Parts: sequence; C-alpha cells; structure tokens
Amino acid sequence: MTDTLTKHQLREIREMLLEFRSYLDSNHVALDESVHQMRHINEGGKIVRVNVHDGALISMLTSSVEVYPSQYVGDAPLLGQEGEVFGNLFGTVEEDDDCITYEVLGTSVTQTYLIRTEEACCPSSHHLMKIRQIADSIPGLTCLGRFHSHPYPSSQFTTLWNSHWSPQDYISTFASVREYRVPPLEMIFALAALQSEKKRQPVIKPSYIVSYCKNFKFVLRSFIFDVNKRTLDDVAVLRCQLAEKIRNW
Ligand SMILES: [Zn+2]
Repeated sequence: MTDTLTKHQLREIREMLLEFRSYLDSNHVALDESVHQMRHINEGGKIVRVNVHDGALISMLTSSVEVYPSQYVGDAPLLGQEGEVFGNLFGTVEEDDDCITYEVLGTSVTQTYLIRTEEACCPSSHHLMKIRQIADSIPGLTCLGRFHSHPYPSSQFTTLWNSHWSPQDYISTFASVREYRVPPLEMIFALAALQSEKKRQPVIKPSYIVSYCKNFKFVLRSFIFDVNKRTLDDVAVLRCQLAEKIRNW
C-alpha cells in the first residue's frame, strides 16, 4: 500500500470488497467455542499445527506491551506511536501424511507505519518488502505469515471476540496472499492491561492460549488462510511452551 492509490489499486480494493461480501454471504462466522475447535484448514485435507517458539512469543509480547495505548490505563498517550503492532512470522514448514506443521522460530517487528492507532496499523509495504527480501536469502527460512496486536481496555476485553480477525484483517490477508510460498498464518496477539496481576493458570485451547503476564492478560491465537476456499480459519492446534509456562507467582 502506498500513500496515494492508483486507479488499478482502487479497482483491486473494489474487487476485494466484493469478494469479502460474497465470503460473508456464504460463511456464517460463528464465535462459539465448539465451532472454533471444529474448524480447521483443509489444505489437502491435512490438519495444520503451529508451534510458536520462545523467541517469537517474547517479541510479540514485549512489542505489543510497549505500544499498548497509555490512555487505556489513564496515562497521557504518545500520539501516533501507540496502538497496534505488526510483524512478520518466520520459520519452517514440515509436512507428513496427516499434518502440516508451521514452526514459528522468530518474528520481525515492524518499525515503519503509514498509520498506527489503537484500532489499526498500516505498515509501509515498501519497508515490509525489504525485510521479506532479506529473509528470502536466508537458507531454510520461510515467511509464514504475519502477526499484529489487538489492544483493548480491560473493560471491553472478551477472549474470543477480541482475538478474532476483523473484516479489515481478512481483506489485508486476502490482498497479500500471493506474497507467500505457503498458505499464510494470520496470528493475533490480543491484550488488555488489568487492574492487578492475576494469579491464574494459562487456558490452553486447540487454536489459542490465554495467559497472564504481570498485569496484562493476553490471547495468542492463529488463523490460516485457505487459498482454495478463501477462508481464514482457526488452526487445528496452536502450541507455545513459553506462553503455557508464564505465571505471576
Ligand atoms: Zn486485526
């Protein structure tokens, strides 16, 4: 995306919106837990597993907390610099008879944005491309997709709703799918600053993990884009050993 859209880009956006409208018409996007657990990607009929390694979780957690909007905790905001954070996911993909496994080894946290607010972030595609080109020259490393944070005030935070992709996220993923060599992951790191540190066990579900780190509650959740059905579905299994170990005691 650039600052000024060409006629061609406007036409592409119009086509994407039409695609998205037909997607919504043909898919009931239910948010109850049982539906999430049943829906997995069927790229070749195989289950998709995602393993998030420690380094990747650390950079998603720290960068999301760093730019978490100060106004949500009653502090003065640093205008234009707080809100959502965006990054690329890098790692490897392994395939066996039943399963495709994404090993997310690390992330690149984007530092250049056209727009950044508490409700959206728009990275500069020119700068993103520089990172992808560097990554492509590293043997064995694949860009697996991207992540971004969903910061919310604690009073508005609901686990399943706030960790779900938005229509804008779908359009953005759909628009960028040709940039990947594998069906891209869309990982959401949803978080809220609570009034106090909660001493709670992490909640581990098939496609997401809820955990508590100091006064933050966060949800790590991953979707995958099915290039055949053009749907963005919860992965079958998401695991992150570090997120499952974090405790406030
Ligand atoms: Zn989003």
